[in-house]
Amino acid sequence: MIRFDNSYARLPEGFFTRTRPTPVRDPKLVALNRPLAERLGFDAVWLAGPEGVAMLAGNTLPEGAEPIAQAYAGHQFGGFVPQLGDGRAVLLGEVVAPDGARFDIQLKGAGPTPFSRRGDGRAWLGPVLREYLVSEFMAAFGIPTTRALAAVTTGETVIRETLLPGAVLTRVAASHIRVGTFEFYAARGDRQRLQLLADHVIARHYPDASGAADLLQRVVERQAATIAGWMALGFIHGVMNTDNMSVSGETIDYGPCAFMDGYRPDKVFSSIDAHGRYAWNEQPNIAVWNLAQFASCLVPLMGNDDAAVAEATRIVHSFPELYQAEWLRRFAAKLGIAAPRPEDRALIERLLTLMAADEADFTRSFAGLADGRARDEFKAPEQFDAWAEGWQARIRDLSDAAQVMARANPCRIPRNHRIEEVIAAGREGDYAPFHALDAALRAPFEDRPEWEGYALAPQPDEIVRRTFCGT
Ligand code: AMP
Ligand code: MG
Repeated sequence: MIRFDNSYARLPEGFFTRTRPTPVRDPKLVALNRPLAERLGFDAVWLAGPEGVAMLAGNTLPEGAEPIAQAYAGHQFGGFVPQLGDGRAVLLGEVVAPDGARFDIQLKGAGPTPFSRRGDGRAWLGPVLREYLVSEFMAAFGIPTTRALAAVTTGETVIRETLLPGAVLTRVAASHIRVGTFEFYAARGDRQRLQLLADHVIARHYPDASGAADLLQRVVERQAATIAGWMALGFIHGVMNTDNMSVSGETIDYGPCAFMDGYRPDKVFSSIDAHGRYAWNEQPNIAVWNLAQFASCLVPLMGNDDAAVAEATRIVHSFPELYQAEWLRRFAAKLGIAAPRPEDRALIERLLTLMAADEADFTRSFAGLADGRARDEFKAPEQFDAWAEGWQARIRDLSDAAQVMARANPCRIPRNHRIEEVIAAGREGDYAPFHALDAALRAPFEDRPEWEGYALAPQPDEIVRRTFCGT
């Protein structure tokens, strides 16, 4: 039995539309995240059985669920779209875990909703497996993120450029409330609902925040930490539209996301990001842009006068300093420095410059610092050696530094070519590669001989250069 307590569905009319998932022909469980099920207080054995799978596919509604599609708007690639909303996701409801934490349980790919526009409301297996692997890796590494509870196939095909196997992801999130949710009401001048939404978010995510200004400050802080975490992994979200930015600070909506192999600061993978708006090194700037949109939504709740605008502006402008501090903490730890000093920034930047010049592998270059293999990643190792002299002088004791690095530099990441491999096998009904990669990604700091292959950079013919939207 799952105990629901659906606080969002108790908000008044206008925040969502009641919508049921559309049943699918032949649901089959591909993956169940048992540790997460346990954390939520769910019975994993029941979930993996026929009744559980029917629920995870949207074929039956658990007691207490109040399925809804949430309304939101959003800036997509800089242009405002007043009406987006859950077009291929249905929120079943909220559960309160044994430790008191509240989570949304959402089925992504659950069929059309009133917000589907021209879409079919479905997802295919590829993006479902990708989101499952990547979001769980992010969680294992310690980056705020939505989680993946389960993946099921539907026994139906979805039509994209070709016919593809359909799937549903059960996503778990602190909430699915986005910057775009605020924009939806702000754009309509609906001050009353804006206030209700702000009150809801404060009660749910920032209970000690004193009002709209404080809410803005907290979201700025959370986003600064999350995005610094992305940067430290070479992660590129790919579609940082305001409707894909969570006010809880969790990474959300893994679409054409990717991790860099060779380091290039302006790296872009997404096929639709023609101008590199969401390139790796643009992510902190885009976060500020998005947070400025959030701030302008909150101004009406902060007095709606010049003083409110000045206050909101000041808070948004606090992002760079917060972000820089998180960045320094994350990257210094990657060099084995637990208590960074301002001058460490230059040391880190010099290494990144050398890495960029050689397109050295991002993950391997850092992971190899502890065992001396990092220099193998460079075409010009003499320059690396010169840098390493300064680095060694700074850290002094390599074994102390190695302990810090062991928790900051993952042995492996969800490499794009590995994900593609898993998806290709999954399309043939073989999920063994998925489960093997999932197990390895859940232990990002643990070395095991059978996982060595996952640490390798792609061979030239394996390199993935483009990724596509989640649809
Ligand atoms: P995204 O940027 O991928 O998170 O999606 C942007 C918007 O498109 C959201 O409102 C989605 O709900 C909607 N959308 C994406 N794919 C589909 C689909 N297959 N069917 C209906 N709506 C979709
Ligand atoms: Mg989205």
